[in-house]
Amino acid sequence: MMLVSRVVDNDPARTLDAVIYLMDPVDPSSNFPEALALKRQCVIHGKPFLSTLAGAREWLELEAMDSGAEPDTALDTSFDLSMESIALIAHDAMKDRMLDLAKRHFDLLDSFTIRYATGTTGRLLNELAQKMKGKDAGRNWVKPFLSGPMGGDAQIAELILNRQCRRVLFLEDPHVARQHEADIQLLERAARTVTDYASCMSDAHSVERWLNLLMRRARRICRLT
Ligand code: PGA
Repeated sequence: MMLVSRVVDNDPARTLDAVIYLMDPVDPSSNFPEALALKRQCVIHGKPFLSTLAGAREWLELEAMDSGAEPDTALDTSFDLSMESIALIAHDAMKDRMLDLAKRHFDLLDSFTIRYATGTTGRLLNELAQKMKGKDAGRNWVKPFLSGPMGGDAQIAELILNRQCRRVLFLEDPHVARQHEADIQLLERAARTVTDYASCMSDAHSVERWLNLLMRRARRICRLT
């Protein structure tokens, strides 16, 4: 409970920069208010909230690399993005931010073998891709599922549970009541169920840093310019 106030604390000596909370989806404490508040305040304050083993491992690898450590070659296969897929989801207030991120990190996202999205986010991203790559080449840049409130999050959750999509960028709006809150939590619980495989990043600030570091790490094994 006390960790939540540490996330929002301005004092550099007290504040937490990131939270790794490996959640067991069948442990009811993962749904206690303090666990939900911990994640929510991380999202609001732009601090990574890592709730899966794979997410924590990747974050530690990327931050260690940024501090000058040698990369862990055992993780190389997961950084071969030409063999990887990614899911992109943004709540309404975050859609412009998603488009901005996708535009600036287009080459990196383009290097994934396939991109998935919820319906409206996907339509907007395909419009962007048509501007970036041309009308035909960009048309199906992202595979859109149903809109989130209509079940798109649940469809992406199935991909995760089937180990067909390892990474999810889900730009959440923590300031509104979400009609499909249950679906959003289903998606997060799906990632925690395959904790050694999947990860979900939920705030734009952390996503920005993650994309920059991922680019550098992926360059070591892919032909990214
Ligand atoms: P949308 O869904 O991309 O269809 O807007 C996102 C969500 O609310 O989960």
